[in-house]
Amino acid sequence: MPITKNEKETTTFAKKIAQKIQNGGVVCLFGDLGTGKTTFTKGLAEYFGIDRIKIKSPTYTYIRKHTAKNGQNIYHIDLYRLSHIDDLLLEEINELLENPKDIIVIEWADRMEKYLPENRINIYLEYVDEKRRDIKVVSEVRNNY
Ligand code: ADP
Ligand code: MG
Repeated sequence: MPITKNEKETTTFAKKIAQKIQNGGVVCLFGDLGTGKTTFTKGLAEYFGIDRIKIKSPTYTYIRKHTAKNGQNIYHIDLYRLSHIDDLLLEEINELLENPKDIIVIEWADRMEKYLPENRINIYLEYVDEKRRDIKVVSEVRNNY
């Protein structure tokens, strides 16, 4: 489990995780503001050929869809502004989770913890100091990840 020394290392780490789920999967990101969840998502998206500049935290919506060159969908979900998940959003997210070929990244996954799918990768990011982040892959529920 790495302590990354800068943004670039977090990006590189994200690409390794991306490789594990290249045929579809769910990555749940946990950690306070500024710990690197969006940075991680940028790295993951980059692995799929999506420009990192396109990955920003959604402001007017909780879900953003990106399509890789090979046609694969990458859904970036950011629940920061959410205090209580409502049925409509949950239904929308559950629909996305039904397609095993898609890549789904959820920032602030704790906001919907009890609704998260069993097959997922949990990633916990912690602030160490200005440039360092402790990143733990706490559970890889599905063995073939
Ligand atoms: P979050 O989405 O968790 O709120 P962001 O990825 O938006 O966090 O912001 C992380 C900030 O911390 C960025 O400004 C990034 O440049 C900076 N940073 C410094 N060191 C690191 C590191 N090791 N990994 C990731 N981000 C880092
Ligand atoms: Mg973020």
